[in-house]
Amino acid sequence: MSSDGGFAFLLPFIFITFGCLFLLISHWGSQAARRWGIGYLLASGGFLTPWTFPSLPAELHALAADALFLGAAYCYSDALFLHFGKIRFTRLRAGFALAAYGVIAYAILVRHSLSDELLFGDIGFACLVSFPLPFIWPKAGQRIEKLLLAMASLAVADCVIRNVILVGILPASDGLESFATSIYAYAMQVTSSVLGTLLALTAIANVTLQAMSAYREAAERDPLTKLLNRSGFERAVAGVGKTDFAVFVADIDHFKAVNDRHGHSKGDEALVAFADIFRRFLPANSVVSRFGGEEFVVCLPGVRAADAGYLANTVRLALEYHEWPSLGIDRRITASFGIGKPEPADHSIHETIARADKALYAAKDGGRNKVMADSLPAAPTLLQVISAA
Ligand code: GH3
Ligand code: MG
Ligand code: MG
Repeated sequence: MSSDGGFAFLLPFIFITFGCLFLLISHWGSQAARRWGIGYLLASGGFLTPWTFPSLPAELHALAADALFLGAAYCYSDALFLHFGKIRFTRLRAGFALAAYGVIAYAILVRHSLSDELLFGDIGFACLVSFPLPFIWPKAGQRIEKLLLAMASLAVADCVIRNVILVGILPASDGLESFATSIYAYAMQVTSSVLGTLLALTAIANVTLQAMSAYREAAERDPLTKLLNRSGFERAVAGVGKTDFAVFVADIDHFKAVNDRHGHSKGDEALVAFADIFRRFLPANSVVSRFGGEEFVVCLPGVRAADAGYLANTVRLALEYHEWPSLGIDRRITASFGIGKPEPADHSIHETIARADKALYAAKDGGRNKVMADSLPAAPTLLQVISAA
């Protein structure tokens, strides 16, 4: 069986197509897609090498093909690390690739041995691609990510098994020029077409889903405070039960005066500080959103309205006694809060928010820097707590 027919060009064609597709996808901002793309294009060059410039010596073909395959393996391992956001061990992998290439060049130029060249080439490829796997395996949460790692492992296994079976039976006297017509080359084309396609498809699915979730994250977050925006809030509360939650809304008091006195950028810093206070003082499952301007809406799953009042009061005190001078703001910033309790007849959370809004207006009318609830006694303000002591 030989591989020097028209079939030989099918594999480079597949790899060039996927390489270009990855590079197109990389315009969505995916660094991993860029590495996959370069890797697939380098590998396509490696597959083409034995059939290009037939007049050149076999040694040159082998040297060029092995450099391209090692480059491709380096890019694949880079892509895997980038996808999972891990440290990439760039120097270590580059050093290993160079050392492997040195050994391969020795097998080609000094030993003139096809089986040694294939053995060291496959070892280099398999080590580079499998290197990231133990580091990133624990981070593969989604099924599609696990599938990607399974495909990468399969590509490594293919390389090792092919070498063990076929290089073992290649006659030791085989010269480098016999590669193109060897059974090894034929087997490589068949398995690489199938596994290269499967690996590319799972990698494309991964980079596409990752880009989509990055876009969705950007669309659902407020860029200043990094809290959810209104549409992020809607999606986050979709799974919350009908009455098993409480809501509070918060509005910074006289915020226009803060801007007028200290400038808009100090106002922005105050908003970021307020967002951090929410993160620090509310339960981890709280859905905190900036609905607009200096208005915030918080959904507290599994929390009763009375407890929501105490949580809101904690946030109110943390805001009031924040280290404002360290931000260059010479006055205390306060906020007013309204608590909303869901009713069984409510059609949506927005009815609860509307009740919380009503309570917020009452807090503003009642002098600001207060927590009020529509149907509950207001949580005590600090002044009330102090005067009661
Ligand atoms: P009140 O106590 O009645 O709520 O008074 P207020 O001044 O806070 O309310 P008003 O609605 O009059 O003004 C809201 C101010 O919030 C006006 C606007 O400049 C400011 N603001 C809204 N969004 C931002 C923002 O993103 N950054 C900054 N720095 N200021 C903002
Ligand atoms: Mg305000
Ligand atoms: Mg307002």
